[in-house]
Amino acid sequence: MVDLRSDTVTQPTAAMRRAMAEAEVGDDVFGEDPTVRRLEEAVADLLGKEAALFVPSGVMGNQIALRLHTRPGDEVVVAERSHLYHYEGGAPAALWGVQLRPVGGPSGVLAPDDVEAVVRGDADWEPRTTLVCLENTVNKAGGVVVPPEAVAPLADVARRHGLALHLDGARLWNAAAALDLPAHVLAAPFDTVTVCLSKGLGAPVGSVLAGGAAHVREARRTRKLLGGGMRQVGVLAAAGLVALDGRGRLADDHARAGRLADAVAALSAFRLVNRPQSNIVLFDTLRHPAPDVVARLEAEGVRVVAFGPRTVRATLHRDVDDAALDRAVAVLRRLFS
Ligand SMILES: *Cc1c(COP(=O)(O)O)cnc(C)c1O
Repeated sequence: MVDLRSDTVTQPTAAMRRAMAEAEVGDDVFGEDPTVRRLEEAVADLLGKEAALFVPSGVMGNQIALRLHTRPGDEVVVAERSHLYHYEGGAPAALWGVQLRPVGGPSGVLAPDDVEAVVRGDADWEPRTTLVCLENTVNKAGGVVVPPEAVAPLADVARRHGLALHLDGARLWNAAAALDLPAHVLAAPFDTVTVCLSKGLGAPVGSVLAGGAAHVREARRTRKLLGGGMRQVGVLAAAGLVALDGRGRLADDHARAGRLADAVAALSAFRLVNRPQSNIVLFDTLRHPAPDVVARLEAEGVRVVAFGPRTVRATLHRDVDDAALDRAVAVLRRLFS
């Protein structure tokens, strides 16, 4: 099987399992797990923030951030293509009584004018706009990388209106690799940032929320409220530390995404949604519905996901090497030439 469904399907490496087995641990609800602390400090450092908090998932990191920056009745500006809007189970409404204001087009990247146009006034009958969330890379747009030049004017608009800024950086490491910039440059304009260790980096579990010390202190309370306070969880943080050390290889995934895109683009049954900028290849299916394409590939040992009735996503990750990619490309050509 060549599994291109997601960059979450990776198996922990031998080095990760060793680090997990040997991790020094303690009760992290008491703040006594040295390995968790090391991970939190390492991520805070990499993102240029005062502090960080290990959380079980990216969704929990994002939702804690929403809670930090909003009160019930508030409105949060997000991109229409965002994970927050599509893939978090309606959590902002369900958990915090907050509504999302989805704006912007298929690029998934918010423009300053998109935000400027929807910031509420202070009439009694209007919700309060209090937060803007960005994603980098933008999953649903096909792994679109958002460069600092695109964030700066948006951050200016947010600041001018007194809005907080949160970054859903589930794949921020990919963005940093694609731009060849340190992650802290991309994180700098944001009050809080969520990053995942279990996507391209290959840890079995875990995300981290980073920000100012006061925000992270409050985030610990909210994590507990959500049931995300964990005990000897250094066994997972140890895998996260190994995962972080592997950031350097993400560029290989991006190069392979480019090769896969070339193969897809050469087939008249498909049309690329965009040139891949990171590890995600998104293409429209012109001859068959996407679920048919998915099923036919699956039968030949290649797994991808339908991302819409006529759109397929393939995601490169650490467990797909050049040989596996060659097999996937050969199957695509055989079935769809
Ligand atoms: C995967 C992902 C998340 C978080 O997902 P979890 O499965 O909860 O870790 C958040 N945002 C984006 C853009 C993602 O791709």
